[in-house]
Amino acid sequence: MRVTDRIIQVGGKWGSGFLAANVFFLLDSKLTVVDTGFKGRALPILKEARLHGYRASDIANVIITHHHADHMGSLAGLEKLTGAKVVAHHSDAPYIDGTQPQPGPSRPAWLGKALSPFHGLWSCAPAEVDIPANDSDELPILGGIKVLHTPGHTPGSISLYLKQERALIVGDLLANRFGLSLPSRMFTVNLAQEIESINRILSLDLEVVCFGHGPPLTHNARESISRLAHKYEGKFVRVSKQ
Ligand SMILES: [Zn+2]
Ligand SMILES: [Zn+2]
Repeated sequence: MRVTDRIIQVGGKWGSGFLAANVFFLLDSKLTVVDTGFKGRALPILKEARLHGYRASDIANVIITHHHADHMGSLAGLEKLTGAKVVAHHSDAPYIDGTQPQPGPSRPAWLGKALSPFHGLWSCAPAEVDIPANDSDELPILGGIKVLHTPGHTPGSISLYLKQERALIVGDLLANRFGLSLPSRMFTVNLAQEIESINRILSLDLEVVCFGHGPPLTHNARESISRLAHKYEGKFVRVSKQ
């Protein structure tokens, strides 16, 4: 599905399916892949890239919006097959390169504890982060993509702003499975921080927003997000700084 001239959501409107995260292609002289879905998707991603005229060696970058297994599951496979450079925020890098284990669900606390022996369920092959990103970094892709640090879902969640397209790729900062909503609370580490990050993106000139889960908003995305942010204003109190 073509979202804008330069953004493709792989797999159509519903992307990678109900549970797995969407994969995006950013079309330039080389190809940039944003997120990779669960493990086992490296070859289907390469196949899809070929449909758009890119060979494996044309995939120059893979950007990971955050460390969850539904977004980085096929990263190691893709890195091996393409030699692409991996970009992710430095706060999530330890979970991506395997220095830290995938933490699993964080709420409710009892569930996190109960499931801790089964953390293999959401672990995946680690991959080296070649370019640890910081807030406001500009990546030299499509004339400059701005990295925004939008923590809350994970400590190192990022959103990617494509100014020319007036488009933002948010990972799991927000979801759009059955209408616009917060992401899975079970896997969100800090809800107050999450709302702060949502408010932050409202300062952008935005028409289009692409989500890790669900179809993109292609018109007036800023207004829809503003309504959602208003609904949650003051609902979650920040208990600790991250
Ligand atoms: Zn996700
Ligand atoms: Zn997530």
